[in-house]
Amino acid sequence: MYDVIILGAGPAGLTAAIYTGRAKLSTLVLEAAMVGGNAGIADIIENYPGFPEGISGSELMARFKQQAENCGAEIRYDEALDIYPSSQGIVVETRLEKLTARAVLVATGARRRQLQVPGEEEFLGRGVSYCATCDGAFFRNSPVAVIGGGDSAVKEALYLADIASRVYLVHRREGFRAHKALVERMHNNERIILKLNQVVDEIEGDEYGVKQLLLKEVKSGQAEKLPVEGVFVSIGMVPAIGFLANRLQTDNGYIVVDESLMTSMPGVFAAGDICSKKVRQVATAVGDGALAGAAITEYLKE
Ligand code: NAP
Repeated sequence: MYDVIILGAGPAGLTAAIYTGRAKLSTLVLEAAMVGGNAGIADIIENYPGFPEGISGSELMARFKQQAENCGAEIRYDEALDIYPSSQGIVVETRLEKLTARAVLVATGARRRQLQVPGEEEFLGRGVSYCATCDGAFFRNSPVAVIGGGDSAVKEALYLADIASRVYLVHRREGFRAHKALVERMHNNERIILKLNQVVDEIEGDEYGVKQLLLKEVKSGQAEKLPVEGVFVSIGMVPAIGFLANRLQTDNGYIVVDESLMTSMPGVFAAGDICSKKVRQVATAVGDGALAGAAITEYLKE
């Protein structure tokens, strides 16, 4: 029996663990994949306060982890498969065991959205990727494409511009969702070639991997073949909700919470990118984590 079980060791989950650990609540953090979540694979994070020169996502998240552990939290690699209330508390069934907690925090974040075009699954790991910092090095001096027009896509394009021979940024509109400063940096980078008002129809290749993208101009319908060896899909996120969708109230797949971040199941809280909200950044996830940690501490006192 733990006081608190936290699902997800990203910025929100680890921040909450720092708070509940400092409040002397026994805290277990379950991580299904990699500590740090999406933030942990960012090559550089430039808008998190306290690091004026920027900091790599892996270093920042290693510090979060260290701090949570210093505060007494236990971090374990295991995946929650179900949660439900019982007379003993909230049961968390994982791949390996059945645990109980007095309160649970869901901080499972969000995953990259798929394009869902022919070739995307077939060439996954053979040219198709969702993470430039993880896979970019495979495309040294080769042409690649990044799909999307948000912060992630522009950041991926800028990162790849230092590695690939050229980077095509394929976006379905002319306007960018990405922050103005990032867009400006992209415009000033001569290795990035914009392909605007274009959608991907298909990713083509052979037994060795991706060879080209089939694009279609949105207005005219005109087709174009783009010779690339890497395709980085960066078209937003979908909530990592899984089994929780059947247990908790959601809005468009994201968990609905009240002002103290409690979900529709009493004793179960949610924080970070998994929550229904407008801004998803490390700083906002940290804010959520702090709020949830304090709210859980208060809830367990009562
Ligand atoms: P996003 O902001 O939702 O942008 C997704 C982009 O993909 C949009 O430009 C969208 O086009 C395009 N798109 C969506 N579905 C598509 C489809 N089926 N085909 C083609 N294009 C499609 O997602 P994100 O860039 O992953 O960012 C997610 C959140 O993390 C945002 O809140 C962002 O600010 C934050 N983030 C911040 C940073 C940072 O450094 N501050 C870095 C990464 C992410 P439309 O514009 O036409 O809708």
